[in-house]
Amino acid sequence: MSPTASLDDLRRALLQTARAMQAEGLNRGTAGNVSVRCADGDGVDFLVTPTGVDNETANPGDMVAMKFDGTHSGRLLPSSEWRFHRDIYAQRVDAGAIIHAHSPFATALACQGRAIPAFHYMIARFGGADVRCAPYATFGTQALSDAALCALEGRCACLLANHGMLVFGRDLPHALALAIEFETLCEQFWRTVQVGPPQVIDAAEMARVVEKFSTYGQQATA
Ligand code: 13P
Ligand code: ZN
Repeated sequence: MSPTASLDDLRRALLQTARAMQAEGLNRGTAGNVSVRCADGDGVDFLVTPTGVDNETANPGDMVAMKFDGTHSGRLLPSSEWRFHRDIYAQRVDAGAIIHAHSPFATALACQGRAIPAFHYMIARFGGADVRCAPYATFGTQALSDAALCALEGRCACLLANHGMLVFGRDLPHALALAIEFETLCEQFWRTVQVGPPQVIDAAEMARVVEKFSTYGQQATA
């Protein structure tokens, strides 16, 4: 769904994605949050899930409308992490939807506070030869947002130390697909390091893979 879809459609799609995160095993309870960018001109810059609410019992109308200045409208308060959602949309024009999750394998790795190296070529899917880990900062703070934005430079995913993962895509289905792909890679890395240190793909080869991904899949025909 494009950001030009109606606000009501985007509210429904946002809630559906938040529920899918639970179904896909990316989140349990009220951990994590999701947002979607809205079209210019409707007075809303993005919609984000409400803070501390179980999405299984939420309604589309509970999704919180926000502006880039941090103001919000609606019955419920926005996700405590609205700052990193806002800052990613402001800095990354390619971000149409953002997912933050405390998924099991990404979080286990994030608690080590280290980047995921090119142990598998699919790491290039997220923009480069590694997926960085942002240093720890308190949840919901500008410091966490600043650290996340740094870790996301040239990438569409990062780990947040002692916390979880952050992924963005061009729209909600794309962001969800990338989040699932990233959690799968985290599981594969976790399994790999049980056996021993991985064989890491060199920088030149990873640059080739990043380039190859730019034309991978079914390309849109004119
Ligand atoms: P919210 O319920 O405020 O979105 O917080 C969940 C979370 O994951 C904080 O990092
Ligand atoms: Zn969190």
